Formats: sequence, structure tokens, C-alpha cells
Amino acid sequence: MQDYKQYLEKIDQYNDKLNIFVHIDKDVVEKRANAVVEGSLKGVSVGLKDNLCVKDELTTCASHILDGFKPPYDATVVEKLKNAGAILFGKVNMDEFAFGSSCETSFYGSTKNPWNDKYIPGGSSGGSAAAVAAGFVQMALGSDTGGSIRQPASLCGVVGMKPTYGLVSRYGLIAFGSSLDQIGPITRNVTDCAKMLTVISGHDPKDSTSLEIEKTDYSESLVKNIKGMKIGIPKEYFIKGIDPEVELKVKSSIKLMEDLGAQIIEISLPHTEYALSCYYIIAPAEASSNLARFDGVEYGLRGDVDHGMINMYVDTRNKGFGDEAKRRILLGSYCLSSGYYDAYYLKAQKVRTKITEDFICAFKKCDCIITPTSPTPAFKIGERTDDPLAMYLSDIFTIPANLAGIPGMSVPCGFSEKGLPIGLQILGKHCDEKTMLRLAYTFEQNTDFHLREPVLR
Ligand code: GLN
Repeated sequence: MQDYKQYLEKIDQYNDKLNIFVHIDKDVVEKRANAVVEGSLKGVSVGLKDNLCVKDELTTCASHILDGFKPPYDATVVEKLKNAGAILFGKVNMDEFAFGSSCETSFYGSTKNPWNDKYIPGGSSGGSAAAVAAGFVQMALGSDTGGSIRQPASLCGVVGMKPTYGLVSRYGLIAFGSSLDQIGPITRNVTDCAKMLTVISGHDPKDSTSLEIEKTDYSESLVKNIKGMKIGIPKEYFIKGIDPEVELKVKSSIKLMEDLGAQIIEISLPHTEYALSCYYIIAPAEASSNLARFDGVEYGLRGDVDHGMINMYVDTRNKGFGDEAKRRILLGSYCLSSGYYDAYYLKAQKVRTKITEDFICAFKKCDCIITPTSPTPAFKIGERTDDPLAMYLSDIFTIPANLAGIPGMSVPCGFSEKGLPIGLQILGKHCDEKTMLRLAYTFEQNTDFHLREPVLR
């Protein structure tokens, strides 16, 4: 572990170029560093996605509409990190309200991928993944509604985990899709991921969806042995359109797992092809409802106040939300409106059940499932901004886990010819983060991808 000052120096040197931190105050970091408490994360530098509430500090979801907003309380995860001795460095960039896969919808502009600054870092937790990859912090927190931890982790060559729905309290996370959202760690290696998960997980009476499970020490899962582990490979996931380099790296990783003693089994997740459409009804529907509270009255920006209340609402929302947020609100309101609710929202919920049942069935035959995390390595900044469908396709492999509520993580498994990172996804049974971590750890300890670092210029 480096001294926090070394991290601050790196931020000083490269943040202007990479646009990773959006709210950071060096003096506050110094003060925190001088006052850390004893704990399992003592002195560890941590970056927070800008949708996590920190008392009296800017929390803006990278949106203009939350300009100047300082929450009156800490998110539960923030409180837990503080109590474990972590040094909170500040807020990192994200797609506005976590809508996106590239960090380009941020009000503060795109974050650059530390491996190549012409490329996106992934999203929506792009700032969190880039911060860890660039060595700005040792660990970061992200949130994942459809892939937003795993996809940027994959594109930045770091480890990212979306825990089981309900394992980590979401009290103080500004909601996107409440039936899908989950907070999770982004770290350089699997050991740090287990450490951070141990700190942030656990029941919280302040979150009604929080699971009542016993406190677990996930570091106990860091065992280098997968002999006899059954690994499922879904035949539907190696489809046309997947980048050949990604396919090659993931397939050779599966081969390595087999060589290490795992048993590889072909499985089927037949409803996968409907996951993306299903998600793009449910997620915007919930988002449109969650975003209704931003109207210029209680939070952040307030538009024109001289022409009546309704006009103030309209002006605030018109000025405050970016294009993607508006698109989601429109899509979501449409799907929830009377006459369309049954045809879209209800239908999508039924398909969601089918997708969940696919996993239940598959996990009768295997302990973990392996897929690519993202169908392609990072793409160029600007390449998909005019094509929302192409952008939405980035999450084709990650979305099913959110719909089913199961845990998933991304670990580095290679590099493309252009030198961009590639990740593979491990999916686990409900609340079985332990087996997932054991597989991830064994794989990591037999490879060296996690040891490479980008050269910052
Ligand atoms: N990229 C997906 C979306 O735009 C997922 C986002 C997320 O997980 N927050 O909705």
C-alpha cells in the first residue's frame, strides 16, 4: 500500500488530462488522513462514485440538475468505509445518473481510459474503474444497475463486483432502477475486492431491500483451488458480433480453468436474447419514477422562478437533465402510462421471471458461469454517442445478472492487440459470492494481467 500522499500527487499530475475526479478537496483528504481510525482498511485511499451521499459534500450524479447539492447524511457504505479506517478521497466521474456505458453522458465531460486516452473507460462507473486503473486510489465504489461496475472494470483492466441484490445496503445511493441497483467494489485485485466486500456488506435496517444474512469474512474465500468446481458456459453467449479478440481471450481463460481442475459444462440460458429489451423497459420505467423528485424544489438547480410554479418545474428539468436522462424519462413514462403498462412493463416483468428461472435451472448443473464481460474492448470516445442502440448493446452480457439479482464480477483476462484490457465475467448463485471469489482468485493467481499498469503520460 502506498502512502496517501503518493496517490494525491498522481491525481495532481494527471487528473486534468483524464478527468476522473469531479469533486476532490486536497485539504479535506489531508484532514481525513490525519484522523483515520483503526480498522481493516486503515489508510486505504478510496474513490466514491458521485451518486453516493457523503454528508455536507457535493453529490451530483454528474448531473447539472444536482448542482451544489450536499446531502445531510452519509450513505451506509460511506459510514462503513469510514469506520474501517479508509481515507475517502472524493467523488469520481460517472454517466449522468448512471445512464450509460461510456462515461460520456456526464455533465462534467468524458473520463478518459488510462490505457489510452482516446478511448472511453466504460460506464457508468467509468470514473471509479479509471481511478483504480490509473493508480489515483487503491479502491473505489461503483454502482451497477445493468453492468455499470463490471463493464468499466473490464474495459480498464481491474476487478469489479456486483454483489447479490440486497447484500450491500443502498441507503444513501441516489436511485436509478430500484429493483436492479447494487453497490460494489472496484479494485486492482481479487484480494482487495474481498476485503472491501467484507466491510460494505451486511444487513441495514435503513434499506428495506437489505438481506438479513450473517456477517461474512470474504477473505476466507481466497483459496487457490478450483479442483472439481463445475463451470457452466452458456452457449447463447458466444454469439455473432462478439469481438474475436474477446472471444479468444475468454476461451483461453476457460481452458486454463479446466487445466486447473475445473469441470467445464455447456449450459443454456435460452431467454438471454430478451434480456436487453426487458431491461430497457424496466430500468427506464423505474428511473422515470425515481427522477420525478428532481424538480427544483428540494435539490440542486432551480430554473426560472418568475413565471409560476409549473414553469419552474419545467424549466429546471429542461435545463438540468442531459439528453440521455431525458430519453430515459420519456421511455420510462411511456412504458408506465395507462394503456401501455400491461403491454410493456408487466410483460417485461414476466420475461424477467423467465430469465431468473433460466439461472435457477443452470445453477443446478454448475457452481459458476463464465461469459465475456463486454462484447468488445473499450471503444473510441464519440464512436457510439449518436447511436443509443449500439451503446445499449455494451451491456448485453451483464444485464441478465441484475434482472435475476445474482452476483457477478469481472476479472482481467488479457489485452487486445491495441493494448486495451479485456475482462471475463463470473456469475454466481444467489448469495454465493464465496465460490465466485475462489474462482476469481485462483484464476488471478495463475495469470499476470492484474499486475500490469497503464503508463500515464
Ligand atoms: N449501461 C446500462 C445503462 O445505461 C447500465 C447502467 C448501470 O448499470 N448503471 O442503463
